[in-house]
Amino acid sequence: MRAGDIAHRSCHNLGLGQTKGLMISLEEACARILADIGSPDTEIVKLVEAVGRIAGEAVASRNQLPAFDQSAMDGYAVRSQDCASAAPDCPRELALQGRIEAGDVGQETLLEGQCVRLFTGAALPTGADAVIMQEDTAVNAGEPSQVSILHTPKPWENVRLRGEDVQRDTAILAAGQRIGLPHLPLLASQGLAALSVFRAPRIGLLATGNELREPGTPLEPGQIYETNRLMLSCLVRRAGALPKQYPLVRDDLESTRAALQRAMEECDAVVSSGGVSVGDMDFVKPALKELGGEVGLWKVSMKPGKPFLYGRVRGKALYGLPGNPVSALVTFVGLVWPALWRMQGMASNPWPTRTGVLLEPVSNGGDRRHFMRVSMDPNGRVRLSGLQASHALGSLAQSNGLIDVAPRTEWAAGKNVEVLLLDD
Ligand code: AMP
Ligand code: MG
Repeated sequence: MRAGDIAHRSCHNLGLGQTKGLMISLEEACARILADIGSPDTEIVKLVEAVGRIAGEAVASRNQLPAFDQSAMDGYAVRSQDCASAAPDCPRELALQGRIEAGDVGQETLLEGQCVRLFTGAALPTGADAVIMQEDTAVNAGEPSQVSILHTPKPWENVRLRGEDVQRDTAILAAGQRIGLPHLPLLASQGLAALSVFRAPRIGLLATGNELREPGTPLEPGQIYETNRLMLSCLVRRAGALPKQYPLVRDDLESTRAALQRAMEECDAVVSSGGVSVGDMDFVKPALKELGGEVGLWKVSMKPGKPFLYGRVRGKALYGLPGNPVSALVTFVGLVWPALWRMQGMASNPWPTRTGVLLEPVSNGGDRRHFMRVSMDPNGRVRLSGLQASHALGSLAQSNGLIDVAPRTEWAAGKNVEVLLLDD
């Protein structure tokens, strides 16, 4: 199983699949989270709203494309054998027999020595097997019913043949496939106005902490501005889901329980930040239990992000991210991102990466894999972006990616590294 590719990679590289102490590996955490996600509902959306969504059912072509033999040019339909050895200095005169515009159908069969004026996309008349483009013809003003052909066509030149592009019953989308912009014209060409997609889950966002204040309001000493919900809103949207922000949650059991209950009732899943550590002021886990929920896992062997909590209440998931902003970001990337795509019927959708080259040595002396902030320039050169602590927003702002550094690892400058792209 591909459990979100970040987690997947760890298992290959490090053999970290087993439980280590109280912590479990990112891969195992991911696998457990994904295993709980059932088959999602579908809904019908207009084609214009389908880009970025996940196809709820397979779609195959009903019409072949082109649907009929048609002209690729503005010009004249001819029988190619009537134009043998035509050239600018050896014009071949044909009798103009009629005119077919795009959208029309010619009524008569083209006979020897005849041509028909026609336009790009117009149906080729029966009997014709080539189109001479307008630029390779001349019309004598004195004799408008004669057309001089100045070019020798090959059979079927400038003709778009019926079915050459798409045959009937060609697969366009598989169920579970992300619908991209390039699919849209083909879907519309099949006469589809709407499409079945998996429903985008609504994700409730909670931020816990007595110290937190809303940006735009005054700060008292000791307080800080809340910075996680807006970042998580963007991440949830990037994962195709619908974020819903809730008011700040105070650090007490009743406030946390009430906030969690409301968000769980109104949403398909909840992402919280803060309050999942071991302190007396960490109420997310107790609140989950108060609501009759169960803890699926707690503590993952990763840095930052170790206290990550996953739980379920009446079939709905709670992803409890640590409050430090970089911990929240990294645990979202590693654990919530794959879950949100799975909730939309996609087996896996790896976080976007790009390969770069380290400009400096990198070392992780610890026993947890470390997601380090880096900046990668347009040429793929990768530098660490300063203070790697999980609260450090300055170095986050200077980064545009993360590298996933295995425990007890030294990487030399010049090494190729895969960078998880934060800014796209
Ligand atoms: P916690 O996980 O609740 O122990 O919080 C860890 C650290 O992250 C503390 O320094 C908190 O003040 C900070 N923090 C928690 N939640 C947020 C948030 N939503 N925005 C900014 N900082 C936060
Ligand atoms: Mg807190």
